[in-house]
Amino acid sequence: MKKYQKIKTKISNPFLKLKENPPLTINSLNLITTFTNICNLHCIMCKKSFSKNLNKLSMGKKVFDEILKIIPYAKTLNLRTGGEPLLTPDIIQKIKLIKSINPNIKIKINTNGLPLNNEEFALSVMENIDSLHLSLNGIKSYDKIMKPAKFKDIINVMNMIKRLKHQIKNDLKLMIGFIIMKMNYKEITDVVDLAAKYGFQKIIYKTLIIYHKSLLKKSINTNNKLYQKVIYELSLARKKAAKSNITACYDDILKMDSSLNKFTYTDFCSYPWDTIFININGDISLCCTNNTLIDNILNDPLEKIWNCNEAIEYRKGILEKKYYKGCGSCRKIILEDD
Ligand code: SF4
Repeated sequence: MKKYQKIKTKISNPFLKLKENPPLTINSLNLITTFTNICNLHCIMCKKSFSKNLNKLSMGKKVFDEILKIIPYAKTLNLRTGGEPLLTPDIIQKIKLIKSINPNIKIKINTNGLPLNNEEFALSVMENIDSLHLSLNGIKSYDKIMKPAKFKDIINVMNMIKRLKHQIKNDLKLMIGFIIMKMNYKEITDVVDLAAKYGFQKIIYKTLIIYHKSLLKKSINTNNKLYQKVIYELSLARKKAAKSNITACYDDILKMDSSLNKFTYTDFCSYPWDTIFININGDISLCCTNNTLIDNILNDPLEKIWNCNEAIEYRKGILEKKYYKGCGSCRKIILEDD
């Protein structure tokens, strides 16, 4: 794959006053974790589909208990894919326990939605979280992308979500995630119709992350004409969405230049100041790319880990633009080719 190149547009750094060792305060962190890497699907663009030796694991009690100690520091908890979060054993009890420790925490679940096909379970999930992000990624192309799921099954789930939304008392936000590829880009505006029909308030469009060279064939970013077409379709989708009061986001795609593999150059990343990612085994990173491993939650309390030497080095690297370890090869920080 071609190396990314820097272009001249430079985003100014609004975080110049940040320190390498920020205080850890209550309700300040974005906590991202994954309670399980078990999944019911084999989506064609998922990193897991290319990892042959991945053990099917859920988070053990020891790590979960340590996460509970961190919950007061979190303002958000994002249970993301990489596994299907709704297949986590006792997921409802776990969410309730987290909410009982920190009633202000906002919980978001990224799901393929299919485990919500049971009404009682769907109702419990919807009543206890704040945002539900449904990874749709296809309409006509759904069955070929979200293997082995069937489009009719996700439509049944969306129907049920729409019906149950009237029964719940909380202000649950419903979002659709759509990863644009060659095989689904013609469906970009059709997603808006689905969102409007089933009461979803936001659509987040993204493009493929290339985990494996076979994905290059599926990517829209390898063909400039196609990229331009996609941008046009996205602008139509945004206009159409606005008429139904739906937000259509595609900022990450716009950050790319129209030439292939050129991105708007950014030299700053704020994640290490407000984000921690905890893996199933307790490994802690300062962002969800897993490139910034600083310690394991079973070794030390977060109060000690938050400003450990590794954490300080990552922050210093960003502040001084010397990009420590994984930050140097990160998609977010685009370095010069030479
Ligand atoms: S690896 Fe990338 S996303 Fe993570 S902290 Fe570094 S620059 Fe930010």
